[in-house]
Amino acid sequence: MQALSKNRAEPGIWLVSAPVPEPATNEVLIKVHMTGICGTDLHIYNWDGWAQRNIHVPRIIGHEFVGEITAVGPGVSGFDIGDRVTAEGHVTCGLCRNCRAGKRHLCHLAVGIGGGRDGAFAEYLVVPAANLWKVHPDIPSRIAAIMDPLGNAVHTALSFDLVGEDLLITGAGPIGIMAAAVSRFVGARHVVITDVNDYRLELARRTTTCHAVNASRTSLDEVVRELNMSNGFDVGLEMSGNPQAFSDMISHMYHGGHIGLLGFLPPTTAINWDDIIFKGLHLKGIYGRELFETWYKMTQLLRSGLDMAPVITHEFPVAEYHQAFEVVHSGECGKVLLDWQ
Ligand code: NAD
Ligand code: ZN
Repeated sequence: MQALSKNRAEPGIWLVSAPVPEPATNEVLIKVHMTGICGTDLHIYNWDGWAQRNIHVPRIIGHEFVGEITAVGPGVSGFDIGDRVTAEGHVTCGLCRNCRAGKRHLCHLAVGIGGGRDGAFAEYLVVPAANLWKVHPDIPSRIAAIMDPLGNAVHTALSFDLVGEDLLITGAGPIGIMAAAVSRFVGARHVVITDVNDYRLELARRTTTCHAVNASRTSLDEVVRELNMSNGFDVGLEMSGNPQAFSDMISHMYHGGHIGLLGFLPPTTAINWDDIIFKGLHLKGIYGRELFETWYKMTQLLRSGLDMAPVITHEFPVAEYHQAFEVVHSGECGKVLLDWQ
């Protein structure tokens, strides 16, 4: 089969020929239809410090996908050949305290599909049946291919009561934009989303009703004044990984407000602790999706009319993967898909 593999410890990714994997006990084989490119895939492509520490070559990468089951290993029940599926990308141990408490998303031994084990940028991949999510017939495959990052957005947004609340999202990347749409859908009042990239701010406006603000030109003070918000934001979703954006967020939160931290902030990020302490702010770190409550919620949100189609801006056949990665690298895009059929 064809696969995109991180074959060498240097920048790049290579289209290689690899053996079709075989499903072991409790695993299934999936024929991949479509995949999404995640920021993590770009880190691996660029071979930056994070990738060098976390990826062992050779490795078939990719974890956002939709496909069809073509074989089931021994012991699998509840899934059949022909089922259209995607999967949770964190393979959990099943034995640690959190797994046994039903909180698999907090497993401290999780292994990533397309990171710690071979992934979805291939004609076929094998995953444990316990990670599968059957795609509801109402949900188109292009959308199912991005349920992994949509799940990040849904997990972060639904961590807080948003009804009637004023919301600040820093970072209008694909996940920030999806979180804006989800927040609006569930009844937030003002949804302000910031970025420094005008393409993405325009994409946010096209996707949902929001105040999309270029943080390099307009201050949050101006935004708060313009929207007549006397007290600042009730909920903040940090989705940029940018320290300045996070710092601005903290200083514009209302007392008692809640912040969800999804963006990967560098360890040197400085915080004005006075704002956290004296305003009584709540901070919550978010990793991945809640298993499997987030998957259930996003399925039903999509079935009730949450429209994520505008977030997908590009689609390439796998042979043009170089162009696809270049578009992701440029930032002039929402979600970028690779077609494996
Ligand atoms: P992305 O890199 O496409 O988007 C980040 C956006 O932040 C970009 O559009 C960028 O222009 C913007 N930005 C940069 N500086 C800014 C500033 N000063 N103010 C406002 N915006 C600014 O990433 P994504 O795929 O949308 O993911 C969002 C973040 O979440 C990334 O940091 C990603 O690494 C992280 N992530 C975390 C998890 C998790 O489980 N915690 C999962 C997936 C992604
Ligand atoms: Zn575990």
